[in-house]
Amino acid sequence: GRRRRVAEPPVDDEPLRPLAAHIVGDANVDAYLDLLLEELAPEGVDRRAPAWHKDDVAPDVPFHVVVVGAGMSGLLAAHRLAQAGVDVTVFDKNDDVGGTWLENTYPGCRVDVPNDLYSYSFAHAVWPQRFSDQATLLEYFRRFAESTGVRAHIRFGTEVLGARWSDDTQTWSVRVRPTGGEDRGDGEAGEEETVEANAVVSAVGQLNRPLFPDLPGIEDFSGPWFHSARWRHDVDLTGKRVAVIGTGASAAQFIPEVAEQAGELTIFQRTPNWLAPTPEYHEEVTPETQWLVEALPEYGDWHRLWLFWRMHEGLTAAAKVDPDWDTSLGSVSLLNEMVRLGLVEYLNEQFAERPDLLDAVVPTYPPIAKRIVRDNGVWARTLTRPNVHLVTDAIEAVTRGGVRTAGEDHEFDVIVYGTGFQASQFLTPMQLTGRPGPEQPLGAGNEGLDLHEHWAGDARAYLGVTVPHFPNLFVLYGPNTNIVINGSIIFFSECEVRYLTECVHLLLAGGHHALDPTVAVHDAFNQRVDAANAEMAWGASSVNSWYKNATGRVAQNWPFPLLEYWQLTQAPDPEDYELT
Ligand code: NAP
Repeated sequence: GRRRRVAEPPVDDEPLRPLAAHIVGDANVDAYLDLLLEELAPEGVDRRAPAWHKDDVAPDVPFHVVVVGAGMSGLLAAHRLAQAGVDVTVFDKNDDVGGTWLENTYPGCRVDVPNDLYSYSFAHAVWPQRFSDQATLLEYFRRFAESTGVRAHIRFGTEVLGARWSDDTQTWSVRVRPTGGEDRGDGEAGEEETVEANAVVSAVGQLNRPLFPDLPGIEDFSGPWFHSARWRHDVDLTGKRVAVIGTGASAAQFIPEVAEQAGELTIFQRTPNWLAPTPEYHEEVTPETQWLVEALPEYGDWHRLWLFWRMHEGLTAAAKVDPDWDTSLGSVSLLNEMVRLGLVEYLNEQFAERPDLLDAVVPTYPPIAKRIVRDNGVWARTLTRPNVHLVTDAIEAVTRGGVRTAGEDHEFDVIVYGTGFQASQFLTPMQLTGRPGPEQPLGAGNEGLDLHEHWAGDARAYLGVTVPHFPNLFVLYGPNTNIVINGSIIFFSECEVRYLTECVHLLLAGGHHALDPTVAVHDAFNQRVDAANAEMAWGASSVNSWYKNATGRVAQNWPFPLLEYWQLTQAPDPEDYELT
């Protein structure tokens, strides 16, 4: 039979208002109420589900969407499109769902957002840990894919090589191939195939393609060496001399685990992290609390909403630059300085018995210029172990035997790279060819714009989602949709997915084939974003971070309130688009 959205039971919002007002405190509850009630999803009501169905809008118009990636955002996109009755195929190079939670199996991997918040707004769960580990999160996404039926739409073990837009057919020809080579590591890739799609959704994430540092000699090392996101579980570290290069959020999680196994562990740190004191970081959720979440109606919903609010808008104020502030202190405003003093105090306490390490572990850049790492004391405990050595000298080269810093050769059995991802190379290595650009005359031999040549290392999109000259291409977790401290990235994915679903609605309801944003709207949006990012700690500070691309532009982060992103992504404004 026809699949239709079941009408949701009406919920009376009035009794919820005073509770929501209590949670937001002084903030304007009217502005936030609808957003909060969506996040609350009281009585399990999914207010972000599409309010339309293709059978009612354009039953006879074929519309097929290809989603690239079956991680958190790809699963969500497929679920929403299927809810709206749109034909969807998901491709994933891996053999299972989960994306980042499938690939990152390094020891100690866990979420750093309170887990009650790190979940889909409409699929709350009873979490066993305050900040669950990778295996638990992977299981959540597996269950989601099963229970929603999305799994049936996924073609696993298939990578998307690229896609080409045709103005003749108004479709994308998507080139796919059974995964092989580097992604699988077991032999040759299979036969290429072309799949036609009316729209393509990229859900490939930002933090996916490992980045190795540009050091001479990496390949020469004679022992095992690997990246945190491709952990070699077959390499036994017990008793070994292990080097870890990098100290970001990934390394901060696996270094304490490696320290317990390795004979000697040497950490090469270029930039220290600010640590957010989080005593409960590794705690289980008590059986009593689990029972409350399970048994007491709406307890879990309200608990999640309380976390949502505490983790959101309020925190960004401390990242905002005060142009009159004396930045020589290492902060960007009075509020930022107060945060800094608190965090310095914490490091002083943590390293009280090893003050000789303080110079190396206390950052000199403003808090929130980089991702703050959660800590329950494990970092100081690890760095003060007798088998752990912290090296802050710059690495000159990797050698056959180990790592060379100025004037010193360090010998190792294993090198682990916690050096992050090619975050600003959005959508690589997929090759996407759109319409010819305005500077290219239409006509024979005109190939259309190549997305990566067009971006030239400086990816931009409108609302992070749509790109001029690339019709019906929707990017999830695209340029300028990352958050640094405030909240859960799942919130952003939910906004982006609603927006793209409403774009599909706009096409189907209006009898259009395609849409892409106007250059004027796209450029004006990006100018606003750039100006605002320059006034945030992560834009103003010169510290290294994956938030900036090779041109120095902050290509990752959203600088405005979350409320604004939510408002802007309710539905596309037809005025913003060229409709074909
Ligand atoms: P990352 O933050 O980019 O960290 C890379 C690390 O490698 C940095 O410490 C960097 O130093 C260092 N590095 C790079 N090249 C180097 C070189 N030539 N010599 C010495 N050090 C070098 O990558 P990540 O740790 O994988 O984290 C990326 C993001 O993923 C995080 O910010 C977060 O958003 C997410 N994540 C979250 C969690 C979680 O807790 N849920 C866990 C892991 C990752 P510099 O700082 O000096 O560049």
